[in-house]
Amino acid sequence: MVDELSGIDLNGYSLSGALKRSLRELPPYAALEDVGFLAAELGISHDSVIKVDGNENPYGPTNETVRAIQSLREINIHRYGDADQRRLRSAIAGHLSVEFDSIICGNGSDELIDLMFRLFINPGDNIVISSPTFGMYSFDASLHGAKVVDVPLLDDWQFDEAGLMKAAHDAKLVFIPSPNNPTGNTIPVHLVRKLLETGAVIVIDEAYIEFSKESSLAAEVKNIPNLVVLRTFSKWGGLAGLRIGYGIMHPELASICLQAKQPYNISVVAEAAALAALSDSATLDSQAEIISTERDRMSVEIAKTEWMSPWPSDASFILFHLDGISGLGLRDRLRLQGIFTRYIAHPRLENHLRISVATPEENDRIIGAIREIEPE
Ligand code: PMP
Repeated sequence: MVDELSGIDLNGYSLSGALKRSLRELPPYAALEDVGFLAAELGISHDSVIKVDGNENPYGPTNETVRAIQSLREINIHRYGDADQRRLRSAIAGHLSVEFDSIICGNGSDELIDLMFRLFINPGDNIVISSPTFGMYSFDASLHGAKVVDVPLLDDWQFDEAGLMKAAHDAKLVFIPSPNNPTGNTIPVHLVRKLLETGAVIVIDEAYIEFSKESSLAAEVKNIPNLVVLRTFSKWGGLAGLRIGYGIMHPELASICLQAKQPYNISVVAEAAALAALSDSATLDSQAEIISTERDRMSVEIAKTEWMSPWPSDASFILFHLDGISGLGLRDRLRLQGIFTRYIAHPRLENHLRISVATPEENDRIIGAIREIEPE
């Protein structure tokens, strides 16, 4: 059989020539490094690592969630799940006090970001971002042949209202994380309202809203057909590795998403875990409260070094401005002690480092390690 296929002459076949144009130069996306591999490379034990590069919930899944995942017989992993995601959508609707038919779940909110491109973007269409911001919007834009119109954040990381309004008028999609990753600030509601009036689809990515003093816009979607709110179980819910996010949007758009998504995009294990997390949301809310308090404590403690200044943050991480040491330099120094932080390769962030808030004990170790460092 194999012999019959050998010796085929394709006469200079070019795979890159066959790929669609937008994929001939694969766009970069700097994913998180795998901690196991990194620890092995540095010769330190996996257990001693403090992982503060991915903004995950440092407490991990709740006991209730672990029990649910262990009940494999009840989960029926040998069967396909419910393509209509009824149990989970209904539990999320109850959790947020929104309509069931305005919810759609995705394999991480990353999948829903990609879905927005698949639904709204023809090659050449504009999308708007305000950099520095979450990298997935530009990454997906390259895959789908969209043009990224960047309206950079102002010097204090606030949104450029006039610039955004102008760009949104010619765009299909506007992506605004609120709080923004990596700067930690939120978008004022009056600006969201003005952006909605342009008619572009405005995606407010609330991955970190549980750590913010601002309220979610989830309840607003029922009267606003071009507002999409994205949320995730990766940060608050302690389930980043299970990949589960959700969107809240006008029911008409949610029903199109339901039709267009991959049918079984949520694994039955992820569904069981997310349901358990929601049933124990009080525990997760109290963890979020501790994380927010710790964030403020870390900001104050680390600011005492004088060479590291925190930007105000409404999220579960802090962006620090550095004096006398580069972001990469400090990241590498902390790595040697098993503290894995996030350097973001962006021209305006060369002297910055993002640190996720961990448990109080881990935060103490981070603060201690930073105090030992003397920049040049
Ligand atoms: N949005 C923002 C702003 C994020 O920072 C992240 C994760 N870093 C995501 C979305 C993706 O979340 P998920 O794990 O649900 O795909």
